[in-house]
Amino acid sequence: MTYRAPVQDIVFTMRHVAGLDRAAADGIYGDLSADLAQTILEEAGRFANDVIAPLNAEGDRRGATFKDGAVTTAPGWKQAYRAWAEAGWNALPGPVEYGGQGLPTLLNSACVEMWNSASMAFGIGPVLTMGAIEALVQHASDDLRSRYLDKLVSGEWTATMNLTEPQAGSDLAAIRSRAERAGDGTYRITGQKIFITYGEHDLTDNIVHLVLARLPDAPAGTRGISLFLVPKFLADGTRNDVRCHSIEHKLGIHASPTCTMIFGDHGGAVGWLIGEENRGLACMFTMMNNARLAVGLQGVAIAERAYQQALGYANERRQGRAIGAHDGMSPIIAHPDVQRNLLTMKALTAAARAICYMTAEAIDRAHLEQDPARRKKANERASLLTPVAKAFSTDIGMEVASLGVQVHGGMGYVEETGAAQHLRDARIAPIYEGTNGIQAIDLVTRKLPLSGGETVRAQIASMRAIVTRLLKENIPAFGATAPRLRDAVESLDRATSHLLQAVSSNAQGEALAGATPYLRLFALAQGGAALAEMALAANAQAAAGDGDPAHAGRIALCRFFAENIAIGAKGLEDTVLGGAGFLQDANLALAS
Ligand SMILES: Cc1cc2nc3c(=O)[nH]c(=O)nc-3n(C[C@H](O)[C@H](O)[C@H](O)COP(=O)(O)OP(=O)(O)OC[C@H]3O[C@@H](n4cnc5c(N)ncnc54)[C@H](O)[C@@H]3O)c2cc1C
Repeated sequence: MTYRAPVQDIVFTMRHVAGLDRAAADGIYGDLSADLAQTILEEAGRFANDVIAPLNAEGDRRGATFKDGAVTTAPGWKQAYRAWAEAGWNALPGPVEYGGQGLPTLLNSACVEMWNSASMAFGIGPVLTMGAIEALVQHASDDLRSRYLDKLVSGEWTATMNLTEPQAGSDLAAIRSRAERAGDGTYRITGQKIFITYGEHDLTDNIVHLVLARLPDAPAGTRGISLFLVPKFLADGTRNDVRCHSIEHKLGIHASPTCTMIFGDHGGAVGWLIGEENRGLACMFTMMNNARLAVGLQGVAIAERAYQQALGYANERRQGRAIGAHDGMSPIIAHPDVQRNLLTMKALTAAARAICYMTAEAIDRAHLEQDPARRKKANERASLLTPVAKAFSTDIGMEVASLGVQVHGGMGYVEETGAAQHLRDARIAPIYEGTNGIQAIDLVTRKLPLSGGETVRAQIASMRAIVTRLLKENIPAFGATAPRLRDAVESLDRATSHLLQAVSSNAQGEALAGATPYLRLFALAQGGAALAEMALAANAQAAAGDGDPAHAGRIALCRFFAENIAIGAKGLEDTVLGGAGFLQDANLALAS
């Protein structure tokens, strides 16, 4: 089953939830109109459909291979990557002064979704390059920027993110890689990094590694970590002292090489400091925040791909006789249970897409708003939404891909249809770029307290405003959407107060115990509100005489989400309020 980029749904989400029209009207997006965005996305969709998607299954079967220190990507990968970069897709969000097109994160996010639907193993590489570009733009010296940015923006070179070491995964305070001052302004880097995505490959002539390491006199913990740029090849063409030791054999994304990297076999790899000494983690967070939204988009992407595949199969596969059918076997889509699975897949995907695109627009405003107070507000909104976008979208990516296998029955469990590959590929996204457990802790302990809780309160108020509109307009086709959504938003409000109180009174155990159910609760309320906002826009367009049948579908999907998925909010609220006490009592089960 091939992929078809859902450009209409994407553009509708950008316009009616993520605020593309509003941002364009405010002058935030320069010349970018909804029509221009649609034209660009149709072109991106064609590239994703025609060039990347056909490589996905073969990339999975053949994977990347390692021999004598070199990594060879799967057949067709190199040509596709070069065609993709030459078409300007890598440069789309890049700064204009370094050859980029300077287009917004929102537009690029829609493209990132498409590249990753076509192939997650392909899409993850550019995510890291784009993150590195942002870190260099914000933190690197003029000299480093002028030497590296042009080629990274064009995609002639790629970049990596080197954080993880065997003893330092979620806890980067444990990093041991070393950096020595060489006395000439450069540094010598030694150490081992594991799980480095596209750490070595044959797609480009050079690879630019961004590496976290410690100086000899650095304070312990995260305050003693610095960030360095370490190229595979130095400016004079000599090979730097960095090599790939091996690549991993893993569950999914086989075509994305996951490398163990060794720095400094021969005295130390030459590196240049990015930002200030011992302030590396803050610089790396620029890259990681960008990458966290992009990984959330991978969740949306794989969910969309799995949904399209399952829908196609459910229309073709015949088993059993549907209620009311008179003879022969019916297509399985006629059975209520299969319909429920498909609707759940579609509704979760649409909600996650809306949350990711809202996050992207907040990031754009945080960069582009003229007024400092509005910029700060947007920045805090982006900070609040980023862990939700990452964790919810990648969790549902897994859930939707698993439902996709279920819709296929036994044919989903064997490799022939491709449904199994989506499930295997989806599994990494809740783990990398900070596990989803870490995202939930970030949301509760660092993001809820932003501006004394004002940021989250404003977000909840925006959800309430949508509920108020639903109640006021009282449209029969929306069924019980308004009361169900109102309940979800009120559950979120109470759980938020509980956790804000826990954080401010230093009741850490209470806050941490409720973090993961809280993140899900936030996403259910936010996702439901976003789908309702789109459905209200669809209803208004239909009332104005626009006969697009997709409008009725958008209202039905919003209603399904509110009546069947958002109703889980109350249970999640109870779990959050039960908090540490619930866990403490239950822990007896782990000891027995
Ligand atoms: C395919 C792949 C690609 C990757 N690409 C890169 C890359 O390009 N660059 C890079 O630097 N790294 C990369 N990684 C590493 C990845 O980011 C880490 O695996 C991830 O951050 C988790 O670290 P860990 O594996 O050490 O797990 P651990 O940190 O050991 O965590 C194990 C479990 O414990 C939980 N946990 C840990 N600490 C806490 C806590 N304080 N509170 C609550 N729960 C906790 C986690 O949520 C998790 O469920 C990649 C990994 C894979 C598998």
